Amino acid sequence: MTRRPPVARSLAALRRSLDTLRSRRATVALVPTMGALHAGHISLVRLARRRASRVIVSIFVNPKQFAPHEDFGSYPRTMDADLAKLAAEKVDLVWAPTAEAMYPDGFSTAIAPGGPALAGLEDRFRPHFFGGVATVVGKLLLQCRPDVAVFGEKDYQQLKVVTRMARDLDLGVKVIGAPVRRERDGLAMSSRNVYLSADERRSAPVLYRTLKDCAARLRGGEAVAATLEDGRRAVVEAGFALDYLEARHAESLAPLASLGDGPARLLVAAKIGHTRLIDNLKV
Ligand code: AMP
Repeated sequence: MTRRPPVARSLAALRRSLDTLRSRRATVALVPTMGALHAGHISLVRLARRRASRVIVSIFVNPKQFAPHEDFGSYPRTMDADLAKLAAEKVDLVWAPTAEAMYPDGFSTAIAPGGPALAGLEDRFRPHFFGGVATVVGKLLLQCRPDVAVFGEKDYQQLKVVTRMARDLDLGVKVIGAPVRRERDGLAMSSRNVYLSADERRSAPVLYRTLKDCAARLRGGEAVAATLEDGRRAVVEAGFALDYLEARHAESLAPLASLGDGPARLLVAAKIGHTRLIDNLKV
């Protein structure tokens, strides 16, 4: 069996490990995750490996990005399996802080992101979310001081929020986006897919199929509004409660009235049963 990577759980342990990692002029990549690792996460680790000589993966289920009614308590936690997967990738260090290490008693500072965090997509349905993400990612970047940090395009708005934050706060890290990894039927891989019943799992690829259909129609010159209307109907008819299906400018996330307004990205979020899924696609 491949040797498990060292796991730091306290800031003191992290600092000791970083001192060793950073000797011999290593470049460092950080891949932040909430664990329950799947092939999507591993693709980020491999991209990180190509961009830096040392790879750190953080595993922290961040309470600050869950609302009280969301799934913090039941979020899948599979540390042993995660460490085995990271060992196979020869990850150099796992940063798995305890909640107390990340948010000690009396913790009272937050990062409040603007711009892409207020685009009216995820933020409209999860108003607490990007504040929690920005605060924890800001901390992770300051704790690990990586040269590059890899995030998935799966969480497209999050990627834009983190990229903006790193620039605005002069964090000195290059944020890299990695393409969405999908199951064979097109469903975007997600730690939350384990929540899906067999029936829901069968319906779930409708999101990606709808994105693909809409993208093809838009590329073919059809109008944005009518295309999205049909896409929304298809998602609802498949049994989803739709939060949004939108066409946005791929960089600013501003609404797009026509494809002529700039590079476009389609973004969707919808609930099937109790599980909320998100996906997106370049047009
Ligand atoms: P999470 O553990 O869900 O917070 O995700 C950690 C990182 O993995 C984030 O940057 C996600 O965007 C990325 N990620 C999650 N699922 C996928 C996927 N299917 N393809 C690519 N990246 C992903």
